Formats: sequence, C-alpha cells, structure tokens
Amino acid sequence: MDKKALYNISYGLYIITSKKENAFNGQVANSVMQISSDPASLLVSLNKKNLTNEFIKSSRRLAISVLSQDFPLSLIGRFGFNSGRDIDKFDGVNYKLTDGGLPYIAESTLAYLEAAVVNEVDAWTHDLFLCELTGAEVIKEGLPMTYAYYQQIKRGNIPQDSVSNEPNLKEKESKMDRYVCTTCGYVYDPEVGDPENQIPAGTSFEDLPDDWVCPVCGVGKDDFEKEN
Ligand code: FE
Repeated sequence: MDKKALYNISYGLYIITSKKENAFNGQVANSVMQISSDPASLLVSLNKKNLTNEFIKSSRRLAISVLSQDFPLSLIGRFGFNSGRDIDKFDGVNYKLTDGGLPYIAESTLAYLEAAVVNEVDAWTHDLFLCELTGAEVIKEGLPMTYAYYQQIKRGNIPQDSVSNEPNLKEKESKMDRYVCTTCGYVYDPEVGDPENQIPAGTSFEDLPDDWVCPVCGVGKDDFEKEN
C-alpha cells in the first residue's frame, strides 16, 4: 500500500473557530466539506486533542473562514503551529464577529460560514462534526487557497517557476540552495525570498539576517537544514 496516493485527494484550507464561554480559539484545517445544500449542511473533522475541538463540543457552534490565496503565512503559522492553550491566537489579529458572535479572520478571507453542530461521530483520532449552516457571508471575490497551493507555492515545496507559463522562468536553474524548516516543513527558496518579511528574491539563506525566523512557525535559522 502506498499512502502517498492519499496526497492526490484535494482540499481547501480554512481557519475553524469556536468559543467557550468568553474565550475564542481557532485552528487551520483542510477538512471541511459540504454535505447537502438543503438543508445547507457541512462536515468538519478535527483532532480530538485540539483546543478548538474542545470549544466546539462546549458551544456546539463553529465558524469557518475560507482563506484567499494571498492569506499570509504568518497567520497560517499563528493558527496552525501554536496551541490556544499557550497563546491567545486572536491577540493582534484582524478579526470580526459573525452574527452569532463567533470570530472570523477579516483579512485575506473570501467568505465565512457559521454553523451549529447537530451530530458528532467518533472517528479514531478525530471527531466529525455534522453541522447545519446558520450564517454565511461573501467578503470578497478571489481565488480560494487550496491545500495543494499552500504546500506547493506558499511553502515553496516546488519552485514558483515550475508553475509559471513563462518559458524563460521555467528554464532558469537555481544556483542557490533551498533550506527546509525542520519544525514545520516550510522551504526557504532564495529565488522567491520571503516577501512577507521584506526579504527580496535572490537573497541566499546565508545572507538572511541572523534574527530572521521561519515565516510560518517562527523558529530561527538554526532550525533549518539544507534541502537534499
Ligand atoms: Fe517553520
């Protein structure tokens, strides 16, 4: 059995949020699917260990921010590589509330969906929440972030050139080494730089400032290894 076959399943990328009493939490997830349009209903799968799962079980409600392709890596890192048990993930984040009082990310989000849990299925490590839609708004037009786009382009796992239609870019050979974050898998590609942190394309890993950190998970340069 080759489990890599599973990589061919396509997904979106979302931030799932919920509340417990007066506290908010949220996490990155790819596991959202529509069940039916009438009633408008959704399925969300979340790991049992996650605080967001605990909050959903408490409030029986959740919101889904549908991320745009330009959603910043730093926010994916904030919601995907930290636990709400350690930090307040919403501290400093531009968020708004749905009509039902749940937080959604207000920047680089195409739409939000708000839902109430009507059933729950135990699925090994995860809980499947079967939800009925209670609110939804389109925030802006744009292309939604897919899990594949995040893996391949935002995290630099394939050079941006290889998906470009420009023949000159396709043929260009990278002379500088790429480095991989050992914590989160982000790849620093000198051809791309780190535009979100004002590192221009063409900056080698060695030339990154000493205080540069992984744009996704925040670890320092020492936690990077040269890509094989
Ligand atoms: Fe990282």
